[in-house]
Amino acid sequence: MGNIIDGKALSQVVKDEVKAEVPVLEARYGRKPCLVVIIVGENPASQVYVRNKVKAAAYTGMESRLVELPADISEAALLEQISALNNDPLVDGILVQLPLPKHIDEEKVIDTIAREKDVDGFHPGNVAGLWLGKDCIVPCTPAGIMRLIDSVGVELKGKQAVVVGRSNIVGKPVAKLLLDRHATVTIAHSRTADLGAVCRTADILVLAVGKAKLITGDMIKPGAVVIDVGMNRDEEGKLCGDVDFASAQPVASWITPVPGGVGPMTIAMLMKNTIACFLARTHSTFPKK
Ligand code: NDP
Repeated sequence: MGNIIDGKALSQVVKDEVKAEVPVLEARYGRKPCLVVIIVGENPASQVYVRNKVKAAAYTGMESRLVELPADISEAALLEQISALNNDPLVDGILVQLPLPKHIDEEKVIDTIAREKDVDGFHPGNVAGLWLGKDCIVPCTPAGIMRLIDSVGVELKGKQAVVVGRSNIVGKPVAKLLLDRHATVTIAHSRTADLGAVCRTADILVLAVGKAKLITGDMIKPGAVVIDVGMNRDEEGKLCGDVDFASAQPVASWITPVPGGVGPMTIAMLMKNTIACFLARTHSTFPKK
């Protein structure tokens, strides 16, 4: 029977690590790390995410600010706000909640956030750092996935890992992190032939697709560690992952639930990244990956 990896409990451990670090940093450097979260418009899901991010920041004791901007703000005005935050010495981390309204170019926004304040790890400088094996800010969800895998003590060296999904924010970076740990990594996507056969090779299976219950128990190798990033609604409107949990749990050795798996870890790692940005700015160096 698969054991559940409790992302909520682990995220609490991570947040408590940050909470313990904040006063130490304040004593040493004379101020607390500060995270600014920007939301544009009134997307209900985004509102929940930003609220949880600001709440987590408050829990850790760091400074945080929520900047709420109208949906019709011009791209130029948003970029101006970001530039002002880039130049504010008291701001360490800047997060712009995605998606943005259609008239705003997300790529331009991501590129405008100063690399050393890019808590999401989406800036091209941080992406390049990740792929070149240089110091960088690692994106929150992939970093959280690695911490979840590490929490069950599985050795990645020489293992077969399959990542389903190849987005820039989850699939690709998590594949690189698994590769860095000497797993043999396959990235599957919508054009992969026989997804089940590919998934069945995986000792570590990471799903970042966005399709409710796409992966069923018969697509999982017995004893695999299954990490479900997906956040979907099932036919009854209930939150569910990319994995059909009922059929997968008996096959997997470890499995993350949705909700309560990767989601809370993403927010906890954002807190870690804010500390990393604070230190990167204070020491003018990037954290070791
Ligand atoms: P994207 O939509 O950017 O990427 C989805 C990927 O899945 C694509 O690479 C796509 O392939 C692939 N895909 C789609 N359909 C299939 C299929 N039938 N078989 C195999 N592969 C398929 O999504 P994200 O990476 O942004 O997010 C993925 C999921 O994770 C979403 O549910 C999202 O809500 C969730 N998420 C959760 C987070 C958390 O903190 N818990 C954080 C971020 C995301 P192709 O490239 O060929 O189109």
